[in-house]
Amino acid sequence: MRIGHGYDVHRLVPDRKLILGGVDIPWEKGLLGHSDADVLTHALMDALLGAAALGDIGKLFPDNDPKYSGADSIELLKEVCRIIGDRGYSICNVDCTVLAQRPKLAPHIPFMRERLAGAMGLDAEQVSVKATTEEGLGFTGEGLGIAAHAVALIDKSK
Ligand code: MG
Repeated sequence: MRIGHGYDVHRLVPDRKLILGGVDIPWEKGLLGHSDADVLTHALMDALLGAAALGDIGKLFPDNDPKYSGADSIELLKEVCRIIGDRGYSICNVDCTVLAQRPKLAPHIPFMRERLAGAMGLDAEQVSVKATTEEGLGFTGEGLGIAAHAVALIDKSK
């Protein structure tokens, strides 16, 4: 078994969609990025790649490559799963935490879990998504951006 950690941040700006865990969340701002800027899915992909010691998504999907402009991060997650699957790994479980002051994410979490699990070929019970504010502190607390952490456990024994 191998464990990996991923972390990502994106800036919150007007006139962008807010997509977290593949779920389009109605909100006055969205995340800025070359792709759809799905910070949760990005952290998760880095955790999976990290567990397999295969680098990170910046290496795999460069943000200066026009191919990934506006990319659907769920499709990139499927590609990451193919890559680690090709190396003989299966995913045991993943656990993610989104750091956001607003909007309230709790109502959206079941949908994020389903969407991420579907992309990875897992059951929703293997996919944990949590959200926390940072009590108004720092850039997430001030609503300037959203950050996400993820850990993933993968296994080669099967
Ligand atoms: Mg990112």
